[in-house]
Amino acid sequence: MTSPLDAPHLFGMTPEDLVRALGERGVTCTLTEARRVLGHVISEGRADLALRRPPRRAVLQAVETQLDRRRLEVVDRVTDGFDGFVKYLFRHPDGVLTEAVRIPLEKPGRYTVCLSSQVGCAMRCAFCATGRLGLTRSLAAWEMVAALATVRDELATDPSLDGLRARGITPRVSGAVFQGQGEPFHNYDEVIQAARVLSNPCGGRITQEAITISTVGLVPQIERYAREGHVFRLIVSLTSAVEDKRRTLLPVAGRFSMQELVRVLRAYQESLGKRITLAWVLMKGVNHGEDELEALARELGELPIRVNLIDVNDATGKYGVASDDDRIAFVGKLHAAGIATQRRYSGGKNEHAACGMLAARHRAEDDSDAHEASA
Ligand code: SF4
Repeated sequence: MTSPLDAPHLFGMTPEDLVRALGERGVTCTLTEARRVLGHVISEGRADLALRRPPRRAVLQAVETQLDRRRLEVVDRVTDGFDGFVKYLFRHPDGVLTEAVRIPLEKPGRYTVCLSSQVGCAMRCAFCATGRLGLTRSLAAWEMVAALATVRDELATDPSLDGLRARGITPRVSGAVFQGQGEPFHNYDEVIQAARVLSNPCGGRITQEAITISTVGLVPQIERYAREGHVFRLIVSLTSAVEDKRRTLLPVAGRFSMQELVRVLRAYQESLGKRITLAWVLMKGVNHGEDELEALARELGELPIRVNLIDVNDATGKYGVASDDDRIAFVGKLHAAGIATQRRYSGGKNEHAACGMLAARHRAEDDSDAHEASA
């Protein structure tokens, strides 16, 4: 199951999809009309259908009565006073909760939105709060687009950004990353469709290169992604190059060996002609030793890679953050081996920032309410 809704949702459509959906319902809609409708509803975020240049009455009526355009309910939003990350908790029409995070970029007034692709996750990575929740269901493309649209629309009126506006800067969302709850490639079709809508001029209006899809390393899907020639950015979470350790940290590695993963990464790199970006969740005493450097050299050899280092954020405390000294030493050795690195800030640590933590807290609160109610 992907969506609890029966009617197709406007937020999951490109103009071509809207023309097709209405055609299937016996209503002829031109591409120009479809562009106007979606531009009004998705790009401008309008709840009404009072378009400045409305399409024909039959089109408008069919959109109104046969398609869905409802938004997600914002249950909670928490701002981290330290770094300005804003974490959103959404309730979907069937009651499930997901999260999205508004992340300030280096350039003042520019933001990216970290999106969930599933409710929970089936991958069960050892260090991840979401992995411990298990998978409830995958999200439909419209749910991911609707999450971004809400974050974007609230940005436009956020009073805490009045200082920027006074300096002549209009805050806007210029990027999206599928790196929240869930494994995006475990929900491949809907994530790709969401990325298409987000990058459409009548949709999210985000350039394709500013949309990032992150995967824990699902080999068949990486192969498919390379074959289909998408230009959204791909990040593969490696976290360890030592086969046995990787299997412990990322159970998915039990299904796909390093050899298989490297084979598809090489094919992807050859088709793209760019460096491969690998995410590396750095954990104290776990994955910054000589064994990792040797395995990286052995397994990835000549492949041009960049390693994005991310501090672990494990609520259970089982996996701790590596010390500055350990991290700096590891980065020095990676550089000496000719591997570029970047430190990725995981952000919002003070406010339940690890994926799944806000949802887990709300679930716990709901459970305790239920206990009180039944007591
Ligand atoms: S790290 Fe990502 S893929 Fe792994 S369990 Fe968490 S959400 Fe799923």
